[in-house]
Formats: sequence, C-alpha cells, structure tokens
Amino acid sequence: MELGIALGIAVVLAVFVVYPLLSGEKEGRESLPVDVTPSLDLKRRRMVVYENLQDLEFEFQARKIARADYETLRESYRTEAARLMLASKDLEQGNAEDVLIEREVAARRARRKDQIAEAYVCPACNFQNPVPVKFCGECGAPIAKPRMK
Ligand SMILES: [Zn+2]
Repeated sequence: MELGIALGIAVVLAVFVVYPLLSGEKEGRESLPVDVTPSLDLKRRRMVVYENLQDLEFEFQARKIARADYETLRESYRTEAARLMLASKDLEQGNAEDVLIEREVAARRARRKDQIAEAYVCPACNFQNPVPVKFCGECGAPIAKPRMK
C-alpha cells in the first residue's frame, strides 16, 4: 500500500516536474540562437521550403500523393518561398529605408503636434491649451473642434 502511494507520488512528480523541464528545454532548442541574424533565419526557412518542394515533387513522381493535394501544397510552398524571398530583399535594402521611414514618421508626428497646439489656442484669451479640449482651460470659452487632415 505504501509502495503504491510512493509510486503514485513518483509518477505525479515525473509528470509535473520532469515533463515541463524537458519540454522547456525542447522549446529552448527550437528558438533561435542569439547569433542567427534575421537574414540567416530567412535563408534557412527558404531552404526548408525548397526542400519541402523537392520532397513533394519526389512524392508526386512516386505517386504517393494525389495530384490535387500535390498542386495545393506546391502552390502554398511557392507562395511561402516567394514571401520569404521578398522578406530577404526587404531586409537587405531595409536599413536605409527604415531610417527614411522613421524620419518621415517623426516629421509627420511633429507636424500633427503643431496642428493640435495651434488648433487648441483659445480664440478669446489666446491661451494655448496643451491637450485637446472643448472649453478653454484658462477662461472657459468654447473652442471649436480642430480641423484635422
Ligand atoms: Zn481662453
């Protein structure tokens, strides 16, 4: 009887303590090592897709797979390959563009800030309300809704 309980506890321990440890380790192995760059990762994934395509071709030639399934799978692999290819290209040219985009976003943000600041200036007392308001924070005069582009 006591042995049974001990065994039961051992099993429970195994399931709740050891299994999460094992699966956690497995997940760790599947995640990217620190030294894998995004472009390497994309290339690796592209290789996998190409391998899958080759396998698929092989299976179809060996008549292990129906034509309809073959065509559906081939289409999805090709789409994936094209997507990964595009992502790689974006990444290669990306850095310069990102800087430009960031600048553009910053410029737009600054412009919008200006608009808002201007828009919430009170027409009665000229107080610059720092936040969107319906009534002036200083004198209580109604402030028209700003025209936003
Ligand atoms: Zn005012």
